[in-house]
Amino acid sequence: MSLPQFTHLRPADLREASAMLLELPGESRVLAGGTDMLVKMKLRRQVPRYLINLKKIAGLEGLRDEPGGGLSIGPLTTLEALKTSVVVRKKYPLLHDAVARMGTLEIRNCGTVGGNLCNASPAAETVPALLLLGATLHLVSRDTQRSVALEAFIQGPGRTQLARGELLATIHVPEPVQGSFGAYEKHSLRRMDLAVVGAAVLLGTEGPLCRWAKIALSAVGPTALRAHHAESLLAGREVDEACMQSAARAAAAEVQPQADLHGTVEQKREMAAALTARVIARALERAGLHPGRA
Ligand SMILES: Cc1cc2nc3c(=O)[nH]c(=O)nc-3n(C[C@H](O)[C@H](O)[C@H](O)COP(=O)(O)OP(=O)(O)OC[C@H]3O[C@@H](n4cnc5c(N)ncnc54)[C@H](O)[C@@H]3O)c2cc1C
Repeated sequence: MSLPQFTHLRPADLREASAMLLELPGESRVLAGGTDMLVKMKLRRQVPRYLINLKKIAGLEGLRDEPGGGLSIGPLTTLEALKTSVVVRKKYPLLHDAVARMGTLEIRNCGTVGGNLCNASPAAETVPALLLLGATLHLVSRDTQRSVALEAFIQGPGRTQLARGELLATIHVPEPVQGSFGAYEKHSLRRMDLAVVGAAVLLGTEGPLCRWAKIALSAVGPTALRAHHAESLLAGREVDEACMQSAARAAAAEVQPQADLHGTVEQKREMAAALTARVIARALERAGLHPGRA
């Protein structure tokens, strides 16, 4: 499949990129790693006249860990750079779990975290992890700038809060809360494929107690969904096997899967339950706690 014709533009900074988005006649689109955009263009789902390539803009790539101040991630940071970052592996293992399970090495070397968020696929795998970690996105345009919680940024499949001319400039992840432990797991046909179901958990622990819990599931709703009832079944408890299984069943009841080639609604709920139980168990293990039998 060939690409449709387009004009390739290379702005020097985000202001110029924004001006291009605002001023060019006809459809223009931002290009980062192109692993989503170029596929859509080949399939003629999007046929922009102009592609505004951000790759030449300095300062949009890389991680900055400020002790006590959290992690700033440039939107052009590749998935592979996140995967191989020692800071991400040690301080944000939930995010490391997610990127380590994404695509192939080739895709992770091209694909960026900003592209994964802005593409707003219901199956995007950095989303559940960054959602639970409380990520905030800094958006800029030629004349404006603002910060938006990731939770509010993604509005539906392929839909974000980006206004005309706006670009994602930075992703900020707050310093992890002391005593919090997370994990992410996905089910996909092949390891490199998009998740059929993805599950992320973040538990706030104190001694043997789970003080609070956050659970997000992806690919089983229009965006990554929080499983609030399941979270409430874990909060304030010493989590044993029975508690873990009831939270997993509750999470499966809260998702909104659609039947497709990858499974029926019931099969996807079963996958959601199994993955939720698995990530809770892994997070407890990371906390040095093991779910005992009831
Ligand atoms: C074979 C294959 C396997 C894949 N496997 C996975 C997987 O396992 N898990 C997964 O989650 N994804 C997967 N993907 C999807 C894709 O690789 C990721 O979503 C990737 O992170 C997209 O990043 P990109 O830089 O390539 O985005 P691009 O394709 O360049 O852009 C994606 C969208 O984001 C917009 N955009 C990009 N950067 C900005 C910015 N700074 N400001 C505003 N808008 C912006 C673009 O305009 C476009 O609409 C896979 C794709 C392929 C082809």
